[in-house]
Amino acid sequence: MKIVDIKPTTVTVPLEAPLRHANGCHWGRLVRTIVEVETDEGLIGLGEMGGGGESAEAAFRAMKSYLVGHDPARLEEMRFLIANPTASLYNNRTQILAAIEFACLDLLGQKWGLPVSEILGGRLRDRVPFASYLFFRYPNSQDRSGEVRTVEQLVAQARELKERHGFTSHKLKGGVFPPKYELECYRALASELEGDRFRFDPNGVWSTETAIWFGQQIEELRNDYLEDPVFGMNGMRRVREKVRLALATNTVVVNFEQLAANVLNTAVDVILLDTTFWGGIRPCVKAAGVCETFQLGVAVHSSGELGIQLATMLHLGAVIPNLSFAADAHYHHLVADIIESGKFKYENGQIAVPTEPGLGVRLDRDKVLEYAEAYRRLGSYPYDQDPLRPGWTPLIPNDRWADPLDARAPDIPV
Ligand SMILES: [Mg+2]
Repeated sequence: MKIVDIKPTTVTVPLEAPLRHANGCHWGRLVRTIVEVETDEGLIGLGEMGGGGESAEAAFRAMKSYLVGHDPARLEEMRFLIANPTASLYNNRTQILAAIEFACLDLLGQKWGLPVSEILGGRLRDRVPFASYLFFRYPNSQDRSGEVRTVEQLVAQARELKERHGFTSHKLKGGVFPPKYELECYRALASELEGDRFRFDPNGVWSTETAIWFGQQIEELRNDYLEDPVFGMNGMRRVREKVRLALATNTVVVNFEQLAANVLNTAVDVILLDTTFWGGIRPCVKAAGVCETFQLGVAVHSSGELGIQLATMLHLGAVIPNLSFAADAHYHHLVADIIESGKFKYENGQIAVPTEPGLGVRLDRDKVLEYAEAYRRLGSYPYDQDPLRPGWTPLIPNDRWADPLDARAPDIPV
């Protein structure tokens, strides 16, 4: 089998409401580039990539001159062909490689009649558990619904998601408001959702001292882990020395060099594997193997996904023995998807791993057209800016917090 074409299509799919985070905001929608890799046998493999609110179409088109004529089964060779580690000093294509790897695995699965999880060693579980992934949200620009800013709104969001999808683990995305206020929010969740488990992620924007203080305040709660309280392994190591709870990361251990450094001088207990950041599903499986050897915890990270990327997360979650925690997904904040038969469904906080050959998802062409047209109309958005704080530049460590009493709603084109 040979690759004959690579077709990228950028889509933008609405969220229930803008999602706020430590560096800015998802402005009421996600922008994703869908990649179709076509072969001489007429099969089409699907990939997907984010890009911080921007299109990656040009980068994928540029890959045609490298990959037309390449056998999609030669995945290790493809890694060196387009993401050679020294050549990557000039053109980092790790995430491009990831999306094309997804598509190639999808092609191989279709050709061989096997789900991707069976190609990757075989599934150990049929369903992958997820956490609720709670965000502070601005109100929806159209109908002003969906705001999450106050403690009451946050607890209501968690209860509603638990009721609707069955989550028993909850992740709060922080780093937006002053740490003292976010501590109040986190404590309220732990006291209102009895018996459930919790994790907190301020995206590395605290000082080490703030992280130690916050960590000590929550030690007695039912924590899965504290995720990226500071940015950098040395800060993480200092926090870990002073706080009696597990630390997790999706920012300072995102490649094998960093994983080796963390094994040699441990700063992080739980490695959150992102199929995009690591360059594909297969590197995540390899990294999980290293973590198994050194008895580090593993979970599946979400960098914002539509159904194709979610399928990669499900196949990954299905095959790693040391999946120690529920996965994360932005997915339930979306109002629609671009795959056939609509959005994946949660049952008891879990999503079933697809059993069809390949990734097990096919494009709904009408939806792709609709959301590609929406992208043409709306364009990109600045993922690392806040719509209501123009020019705001968050520092690391940050002290330029949003005000929890500020009830304004942004007017964002939809
Ligand atoms: Mg994170």
